[in-house]
Amino acid sequence: MSAKILDIENVTVSFDGFKALNNLNFSMDEGELRVIIGPNGAGKTTFLDVITGKVQPTEGKARFKGKDLSKRSEHEISRLGIGRKFQTPRVYLNLTPRENLELSCNRSKNVFATLFQKLPSAERRTVGGLLETIGLATKADIPAALLSHGEKQWLEIGMLVAQSPDLLLVDEPVAGLTDEETAKTGELLLSLAQSHSIVVIEHDMEFVRQIARQVTVLHEGSVLCEGTMGEVQNDPRVIEVYLGA
Ligand code: ADP
Repeated sequence: MSAKILDIENVTVSFDGFKALNNLNFSMDEGELRVIIGPNGAGKTTFLDVITGKVQPTEGKARFKGKDLSKRSEHEISRLGIGRKFQTPRVYLNLTPRENLELSCNRSKNVFATLFQKLPSAERRTVGGLLETIGLATKADIPAALLSHGEKQWLEIGMLVAQSPDLLLVDEPVAGLTDEETAKTGELLLSLAQSHSIVVIEHDMEFVRQIARQVTVLHEGSVLCEGTMGEVQNDPRVIEVYLGA
């Protein structure tokens, strides 16, 4: 039996009495790629906020690899091995993709020391491999400001991977991307899923179909249903609340 990487038990998050998460239960095995969908206001962002320590549950427990996440800071949780990619890319635009990845490889080092000192050869190889993985090997040495929106998204995904997290949380990675960039993002996540556990939040249903094996549907702060894309999109509850049919 696979070990659980995430285990969320009866988690409620109240904001002035309003329950953004309402007795939510969720679990995920190590190595899984899980897509979370749900209408606006369903609680998807709050769900990620609980896992990363940005928001504390009012009730219930969130565990990562069996470790209780409550009362841990965001920084501490990131060091436990959880990396989060927000919707908007946060790359250093005046640095090159290679330099951005080098910085991420060792965030604990002083920024300037990392830039001006040579990285150990193992880390240089990691950066080279990552540039290939994210499709930016030929643009490794131009300023990141010159990259397309999609390329910046891939760079930021690469920067997360460079920190060697066990769990990647990816929030709407294809918002604003072209169809071609969307398809490439799907291929990238599927390839990363071979060696990482990944949670993706996404609205773009074509994209969800491309990458999803298991889908969790959130509604009003709770899990409405879970299953394959085929199962959830035919579930009458999902059709009613989410697809609006
Ligand atoms: P989603 O990401 O699925 O759109 P959110 O997690 O952002 O949903 O929000 C869930 C609900 O909680 C929404 O109704 C939102 O308005 C509310 N909410 C989220 N954060 C706060 C907050 N800090 N204070 C008050 N209400 C909030």
